[in-house]
Amino acid sequence: MAETLTFLVDPLPVGADPDTFGSSFREIEKGAGALAVNDFAPHRGDGVFETLAVIDGHVQEVGPHLARLVNSARICELPEPNTDQWRAIISEAAARTPASGEFALKLALSRGLDPGTKPTGWVHVTPGADFTAARERGIRVATLDRGIDRGASERAPWLLLGAKTLSYAANMAAIREAKRRGADDALFTTSDGFVLEGPTSSLIVRLGDRFVTPPPAAGILHGTTQRSLFAHLEATGRTGEYLDLTIDELRAADAAWLVSSVRLASPIVALDDEPMPVDAEATRDFNAYLRSPRD
Ligand code: PLP
Repeated sequence: MAETLTFLVDPLPVGADPDTFGSSFREIEKGAGALAVNDFAPHRGDGVFETLAVIDGHVQEVGPHLARLVNSARICELPEPNTDQWRAIISEAAARTPASGEFALKLALSRGLDPGTKPTGWVHVTPGADFTAARERGIRVATLDRGIDRGASERAPWLLLGAKTLSYAANMAAIREAKRRGADDALFTTSDGFVLEGPTSSLIVRLGDRFVTPPPAAGILHGTTQRSLFAHLEATGRTGEYLDLTIDELRAADAAWLVSSVRLASPIVALDDEPMPVDAEATRDFNAYLRSPRD
């Protein structure tokens, strides 16, 4: 069983013959070169991706991740991904991943060679980091102004704010800045004082018995983990709502989490060095649910 696995993928158009799926990807040896330097992915970050968790052999939320890949591709005007082909390749990768433990399965689709006409794709599976401390002891978070206001996403769709693009340099810079400020992670805010999302996570906030998250229309990625947790809340007699929230409202909240596919739910224990209340019971419930097999 491979701990790390890479497939280079020839993305097929929608409607392609499923008999061709098996020959549409090939394994790349660990550390071997796979992407051309003139691919739009390495030199422009021009492409879209998804990161899925593989927990004890089960790939979590394949459908929602592929639906978001399709949406990201549409926003970026990339050819529509053939989700049947991606499902087949994900299944092959999962069959090659150890049956116990946590792994991250990244799939990506770039605009392809420059010049060129065909997209490039790849799947890369790596062991998940140990997130026990973040899940159980929580994370310190620094708010960082994203430099755009609440209306920017609608006014400037070319910023691609709702797409999961390969251009994550600014997100990585935000995490470095948060660390410089003594925090573990960042939370983006708008220039007019609303909270948005983390650089690689969604925000969920508890206000009394309400669980809320900023609406995707605010210019954030619609998180698969947040959506799954809202379905879990509904199924257990609670509710999840989309709500614009100011930084001050977050500071006064009863609990808050940053949630994402691989790290799962991390309670925020401090916001800009001010302690935040932690809901240990909801945190345990969220992470037990998120670790269970989900489709
Ligand atoms: N927001 C951003 C910017 C992200 O990069 C991510 C995931 O990496 C998320 C939110 C959370 O999304 P998901 O729950 O689908 O992992």
